[in-house]
Amino acid sequence: MPTRRDSSSSRKTRKSATASAHDTAHDRHSDRALIRELFVERLPLYSFADALRLTRTTQAEVDAAIAAGGIATGTFGGQLVIPWDDVAKLALDRWTPRMINGALGSTDRLSVIPLLNRVQQVEVFLPVYQIRLLHYLAEIDRGQYRARLSASDVLERHLLDLASAVNADELELAVPGFRAALHYPYFIPREDDWFTAFCWYCGRVSDVPGRQVCTDCHGRHEPRPHLGEDGIPELDQEE
Ligand SMILES: [Zn+2]
Repeated sequence: MPTRRDSSSSRKTRKSATASAHDTAHDRHSDRALIRELFVERLPLYSFADALRLTRTTQAEVDAAIAAGGIATGTFGGQLVIPWDDVAKLALDRWTPRMINGALGSTDRLSVIPLLNRVQQVEVFLPVYQIRLLHYLAEIDRGQYRARLSASDVLERHLLDLASAVNADELELAVPGFRAALHYPYFIPREDDWFTAFCWYCGRVSDVPGRQVCTDCHGRHEPRPHLGEDGIPELDQEE
């Protein structure tokens, strides 16, 4: 009996050692590792080989993007290179902003993603047919993305279309930084005061230290404390 137990435990050790070596190799090439390499350790320029590897893109796809004017190339040291901004654009065909923020994690995304481009959870109330629509589009509209889309991803893409269609000059006045946020990704950081707790909704400095929603927007957009019978907020008080 002791012999048998020993042999089984040593088999187990060998097996787990192999598994962990495999896991490490797998982790290095995981989508999460690629996203982190591109965003956390970003460099101004990438070779074609690195751009393809980091964004899981084929040469044919990059050639098509260059031909369509979607991404730019340059030469550096006699080698054809792609700027970080354009490699990151290729990455956004593979992973949505939500997926990229998720891969970066709660700490790194604060230093890596500009304030107005960070993904933030908000609560919205929609008619059921629109909720079903979001689910349906998430199912059929996956595109080139590497993971299943969520309702948030679908909504983000439609709001990106909307943001591209509005008058950017007008919006820039109402939402300072709107234009830069719409043109993200870019390599050189723009003005971005992430030390101050700005309200996610209105962009004013939050009047509650440590909370990134001001009191007015908290009552208006996140009315959990005064939910009505079906979890739907009561009508705002008349002013
Ligand atoms: Zn506010």
